[in-house]
Amino acid sequence: MSSKSGGTRVAIIGAGMAGILAGIKLREAGLTDFRIYEKADRIGGTWRENSYPGLTCDVPSHAYTYSFEPNPDWSHHLPPGPEIQAYFERTMAKYGVDQHIAFNEEVVRCAFEDGRWQLETRSGTRDTADIVIAATGVLHHPSYPDIAGIDAFAGDCFHSARWDHSVPLDGRRIGIIGNGSTGVQIVSALASRAGRLKHFQRSAQWIMPTVNDPFTDEERAAFHADPLLLKSMQNDPAYLEVAWGWTEAIIDADSSTMVQTEAAARANLEANVSDPVLREKLRPNYRAGCKRLIHSPDYYQAIQHPNAELVTDGIECIEPKGVRTRDGILHELDLIVFATGFDAHRFMRPMNVIGRGGVELSQAWAKRPAAYMAISIPDFPNLFMLNGPSGPVGNFSLIDIAERQWAYISHFIAMIASGRAREISASHAALEAYEQERIKAAQTTIWGSGCNSWYLDAEGVPSTWPWSYRHFAAEMAVPRMGAYELVGPDIGSMQ
Ligand code: NAP
Repeated sequence: MSSKSGGTRVAIIGAGMAGILAGIKLREAGLTDFRIYEKADRIGGTWRENSYPGLTCDVPSHAYTYSFEPNPDWSHHLPPGPEIQAYFERTMAKYGVDQHIAFNEEVVRCAFEDGRWQLETRSGTRDTADIVIAATGVLHHPSYPDIAGIDAFAGDCFHSARWDHSVPLDGRRIGIIGNGSTGVQIVSALASRAGRLKHFQRSAQWIMPTVNDPFTDEERAAFHADPLLLKSMQNDPAYLEVAWGWTEAIIDADSSTMVQTEAAARANLEANVSDPVLREKLRPNYRAGCKRLIHSPDYYQAIQHPNAELVTDGIECIEPKGVRTRDGILHELDLIVFATGFDAHRFMRPMNVIGRGGVELSQAWAKRPAAYMAISIPDFPNLFMLNGPSGPVGNFSLIDIAERQWAYISHFIAMIASGRAREISASHAALEAYEQERIKAAQTTIWGSGCNSWYLDAEGVPSTWPWSYRHFAAEMAVPRMGAYELVGPDIGSMQ
């Protein structure tokens, strides 16, 4: 691997949406000495790993695109997973990022030694970089349920993010465990195909109605013909108002938007589930928005399909023939799918990351993952995170978030590349103050209003950005340099 020869060497970890973005932006800035390390044999991150039937992003297609690469060809108002994967692959090739990617290269160690990062991959490849961009994603470590007998099942069985496409589905007895955004989409896709489908629900979910019509041929032709029209779809003010307004509602649980959202979710349940017993089983006992809101055009229809059954009795264990619930019933199945989510708090771990003075990331994050502005960790100079801990996550585009984070990080990259600083990392004082304020604010958000979700850290504190999106956008516009510790050839060490 090449190392620094006058220029600035950058290592990007992960070739998902954020890693590809970093590659495109580095090339745009004229910094071509970089490598993207990807543990798998394809790009795409979460869109590569998830391929379950019904996979769809619930952010509008034209908002779920890079700002600089609009896509006139989206087939539907909400983008199907395979189209998103194809979009990233196309974009990567178009912007020449493919030549920078090292596939099947999982970075296992990353240590800051003598002012530079030393990287090592599982296959033994080594690299030296001035800057590391951790673009490892959030939802990629599958979480398996701690159900007794989980290995005892004699049929087919896999996690939703490890879908085995060789397993037949039509006419079979299928059990789906979990009813987050994933489980709901799988049930919607399979209810009419399965011979019998059982949806195991531990907690009910609020579900917002949504429309997912296809774009017509005429609409797509108009997007091709008129770049301004296409751009206006990306920046659709109606969507932005809803998305940004939603972030303001989340942090003010009594806001009128939140009250209206709850009313809409309740009305969706009342209007679309006719059986009063089923309706009550589907009614959550916590506030809408506490868990990530599910947007579905058809889940209520799917669960009322004659082939489908909602099982709420709680799982006792898994046995060779199926799932036994606490009421003693054995639900005999041919296939079990664990739609049980992800360990969202690992970020780049289990990679062994060692910062200045031998500080290990596992020590720095012993209590909880933390990064100043979700970007920088004290003692880990020149390591910047995209979609790191405490970044905004919710029902809006992670692409927009990553682009704003990149704009922020690019200030640091320019400083390092031009020699104005050699090492940049948030100060301990800045992270401490940030975390104090963040945790205080997080506790009064809707996520902290009394439910269990992957937004909560090990201590039950919501781990996502607890302020408005407007505030996030303002913070990302330009770094507060007073929060950073700089080491440079001319300035020595200063804060
Ligand atoms: P999730 O939201 O974390 O849901 C996990 C589900 O598994 C929950 O219903 C949970 O029940 C259940 N579960 C976990 N352990 C269980 C156990 N031992 N027994 C029974 N049930 C158990 O995971 P996800 O659905 O994969 O979604 C994760 C995130 O991915 C989403 O929040 C979203 O950010 C993203 N996603 C987005 C889209 C999209 O359309 N944009 C689609 C899919 C996923 P409890 O609720 O009781 O804990």
